[in-house]
Amino acid sequence: VFSMEHVSKSFGKTCVLRDISLSVRPGEAVAIIGPSGGGKSTLLRCATTLETIDAGSLRYGDLTVASSDGGAVTYAKGADLRAAKSRFGLVFQGYNLFPHMTVMRNICDAPIAVQKRSRSEVEAQARALIAKMGLEGCENKVPCQLSGGQQQRASIARALCLNPDILFFDEPTSALDPELTGEVLKVIRQLADEDTTMIIVTHEMAFARDVADRVVFMDGGLIVEEGSPAQVLGSPQHERTRAFLSRYS
Ligand code: ATP
Ligand code: MG
Repeated sequence: VFSMEHVSKSFGKTCVLRDISLSVRPGEAVAIIGPSGGGKSTLLRCATTLETIDAGSLRYGDLTVASSDGGAVTYAKGADLRAAKSRFGLVFQGYNLFPHMTVMRNICDAPIAVQKRSRSEVEAQARALIAKMGLEGCENKVPCQLSGGQQQRASIARALCLNPDILFFDEPTSALDPELTGEVLKVIRQLADEDTTMIIVTHEMAFARDVADRVVFMDGGLIVEEGSPAQVLGSPQHERTRAFLSRYS
């Protein structure tokens, strides 16, 4: 579904991603954990073309978004780039929604305007997603009339309405009060149970253990180790992973 190979990224002299290779299979949920500043958000921003990469390659299925032959990185353009962008959805901490639009418009705008789908079909899908996210009655509200948890679930519905092959989450609950965190984690868990392909950056270790098929530990711009939740969280092989996890127990 998605792969990045030998990706490096620096900001000025600071190297933030060092030769990162990561691929995700259909139906797989991958959790990325690690200390602050380790490069997790940068990895997602590079994967979703919000940042350019300095070296390496990015692929969505058969579409190559970026590649380098050892030298400069070449990005896909035009229709190819648009097609690749339609294959992923991104949900981050907060402020995902357009504040002046209702929930319904937030969800339906891009599928209609960008994907050129029919309004009736998109609205039917949006209503089904609103129900699935437990947002009945919120269709005509604007974001400021919703709780943080409801806003985040509306953001997930908006991403899903574009029918992406893979969803990226960057700490989807870290801006929420604890009592609102659970309801958002519950819908992500449900998506994982339905074999939605996703990469989730999270500080919720119990959630990562329950939901992820694979856990990736990042520190200092490197993937230090990866494996099943039982391997990485239960019996970490690296001292840095152990030190990080000890803060959560
Ligand atoms: P956190 O858990 O706090 O969200 P993170 O693992 O997501 O951390 P990143 O946000 O990817 O970490 O940051 C990795 C490093 O890159 C940090 O040292 C950060 O200061 C730096 N960095 C990130 N974005 C930029 C930028 N636009 N310009 C300069 N430096 C940046
Ligand atoms: Mg981050």
